[in-house]
Amino acid sequence: MSATLLDGKKLAETVRNEVRVGVAEFTKTHGRPPGLEVILVGEDPASQIYTRNKEKAAKEVGIRGKLHVLPADTSEDALLRELDRLNNDDTVDGILVQLPLPKQIREQRVLDAIRPDKDVDGFHPVNAGMLASGRPSLVPCTPRGSMRLLDLAGARLEGARAVVVGRSNIVGKPMAQLLLAANATVTMAHSRTKDLAAVCREADVLVVAVGKAELVRGDWVKPGAVVIDVGMNRIELAPAKDGEPAKTKLVGDVAFDEAKERASAITPVPGGVGPMTIACLLDNTLVAARARVAAKNG
Ligand code: NDP
Repeated sequence: MSATLLDGKKLAETVRNEVRVGVAEFTKTHGRPPGLEVILVGEDPASQIYTRNKEKAAKEVGIRGKLHVLPADTSEDALLRELDRLNNDDTVDGILVQLPLPKQIREQRVLDAIRPDKDVDGFHPVNAGMLASGRPSLVPCTPRGSMRLLDLAGARLEGARAVVVGRSNIVGKPMAQLLLAANATVTMAHSRTKDLAAVCREADVLVVAVGKAELVRGDWVKPGAVVIDVGMNRIELAPAKDGEPAKTKLVGDVAFDEAKERASAITPVPGGVGPMTIACLLDNTLVAARARVAAKNG
């Protein structure tokens, strides 16, 4: 058996088109487009690419996207002042601070300083709490995208055994909350879980967000399971030689070639969860803009 491939690139295009329509309608009704401000502190090359992609993707759907690049030695106070300015700017609907931050800045203090109604990453404790108490408002983008992929797979979540490997605040925990809200029976596994293979083998729906290349082997997958691989790991195929850069490859947390022989559906890496994350960020910006306007109009 070979699993159905869950094409995140194609689904992300569908989501972007939905957002484009919503943004045009919002702009017509309110005389301004939704606004997304992306803040990058420092010059981390991967973060530079991510933030530029976010700004570009926003503009492509008609959102007013703006990237602020602050120097690597920016103080925590200076960043908090910038956030305060954006929090109080009525034309700004979404604020995102790219992680990781330089050492002198405490990440949690910064994330806590973003107004919850503009927190399009969904990382603020208020938004995490709303999700945990069954009243989701702004939900983290990667888990939202993963839920759309499960929907694409036609996965029956009600009553299903779901296993989420990884318990980070940005992926694993909110993913488990969304699956629980969809009436799955959810197990959260992590680095201290005993016999992870046996836990995974019970899963009708297996979501893996660990950051360890091909940790989950094919025989950990229950036959017929739906597998969502969130991991993005760059592995070296050949070292740098004679002035040529090292040959690398992006792989997931699941051994794809093995797992696809057992799963009924599986996300590839790249081209699975990754594209959905940005698409859901755009959607969150539209959701935030609509909610803010609705709140203002009482
Ligand atoms: P974190 O490092 O914050 O969390 C990793 C989690 O995996 C932790 O809960 C950790 O457990 C658990 N873990 C680590 N080692 C093992 C192990 N051997 N067995 C079982 N569990 C283990 O990572 P993130 O959640 O931020 O990201 C996870 C992966 O997803 C990364 O590869 C990242 O690049 C990718 N990612 C992809 C995105 C996308 O858009 N496609 C977006 C965000 C992330 P413990 O809590 O016990 O330490």
